[in-house]
Amino acid sequence: MTVVTRFAPSPTGRLHVGNVRTALHNWLWARRNRGRFILRLDDTDAQRSSEEFAQSIRDDLGWLGLSPDEELCQSDRFGRYEAALERLAADGRAYPAYETAQELDLKRKVQLSRGMPPVYDRSALALSAEDRARFEAEGRRPHWRFRLDHGSPIEWNDLVRGAQHFDPALLSDPVIRREDGSWLYMLPSTVDDIELGITHVVRGEDHVANTALQIQMFEALGAEPPAFAHEALLVGSEGKLSKRLGSLGIDSIREAGIEPIALVAKLARIGTSLPVEPAVSIEPLIETFDFATFGRAPARFDMEELKVLNARIVHRLPFEAVAARLPAGMAAADWQAIRPNLKTVAEAAAWWDILHGHIECAAEPEDRDFLAAAAETAAAIDWSDSPWKVLTTSLKGGTGRSGKALFHPLRRALTGRDSGPEMAALLPLIGRDETIARLRSAAA
Ligand code: GLU
Repeated sequence: MTVVTRFAPSPTGRLHVGNVRTALHNWLWARRNRGRFILRLDDTDAQRSSEEFAQSIRDDLGWLGLSPDEELCQSDRFGRYEAALERLAADGRAYPAYETAQELDLKRKVQLSRGMPPVYDRSALALSAEDRARFEAEGRRPHWRFRLDHGSPIEWNDLVRGAQHFDPALLSDPVIRREDGSWLYMLPSTVDDIELGITHVVRGEDHVANTALQIQMFEALGAEPPAFAHEALLVGSEGKLSKRLGSLGIDSIREAGIEPIALVAKLARIGTSLPVEPAVSIEPLIETFDFATFGRAPARFDMEELKVLNARIVHRLPFEAVAARLPAGMAAADWQAIRPNLKTVAEAAAWWDILHGHIECAAEPEDRDFLAAAAETAAAIDWSDSPWKVLTTSLKGGTGRSGKALFHPLRRALTGRDSGPEMAALLPLIGRDETIARLRSAAA
């Protein structure tokens, strides 16, 4: 069996970390099983869907390295949903209903006031052909409901939540098509999952109740339901994550200088029993991905933690992985020297300017003689091996300075900063002549 998964966002907004996490889990499961990963754009709502959002979804997935093997959109497939509805209607599993929203609302209120569950009473099933003709003559159009089979409980073994059990008699027959002919999410999703041969539906636990209904739709359409994995939701420091929390959109995460692999490493593991680790490639995350490690409690996403993870990953990224984004001329040795000090790859540019630009730094009066001596020493020593060690050892002996008094004026004179990467790594990159020049100018 080839594993086939799908990520099914509505192109009505940009992706946020919550739905990227769902996309990632679908992608990881497909890769782990050498299967296929499909992007399905749920664009049945023509008013709110746009090609611009669809493109932003493709771009964000591409940036994360989660490109799909196939893409389709629901607006191209209305004929198939129509055919499925006809089949269900012919089999008595779908029926037209004419209640208005207000009438349904009133029914629910009455049921609730009597202490009854607000389950649809199926009165549309009792309509005669004349009743329907009368409604049509009044200008009413039907909406369509799927008729649940009350015969036996709906059960499945969820890959995250374990054994699930629903009594269909306690559920309303879901509306699958509106009066105006537009489709609700339930039936199109089932039709697509069948036709695309989806083997695993991986989505948020807010869909658990939909799954109970859809399992009966799979069966009514003559298909074996796929396996289901409903993951606990992601919550942010602000509470539930939603599309409206723009601060956690993928665009703002990208703009904060977060590496795609950092976001992937985080989202692959939070909410699981496996540790979040500073992965520099996706392979170990594929190999260890397993629904059995997923917890039932909501996973907490924290932007500050992501920044810390990002820095740890930047410290490990090989030159080849970042070369295209570094300032022109920057070599592997430059990257090695400065990466331990970076929070983001973009910060490398500032250190490149420090290494190769002009440093203007007037020293404290009490350090001037010391820096003048340092310039002379730098001119005299052998630069072929560990020049920083040679320079500072010699200055220590010659000036009696040690610790901060020895190192700090040198760092300031050579970099213009109070802290930064190891001077031992920076000095050879600044080079002999520039070192001497910087020390002399600071001493002047
Ligand atoms: N478009 C649905 C959503 O974003 C898809 C749910 C599913 O994965 O079936 O909630």
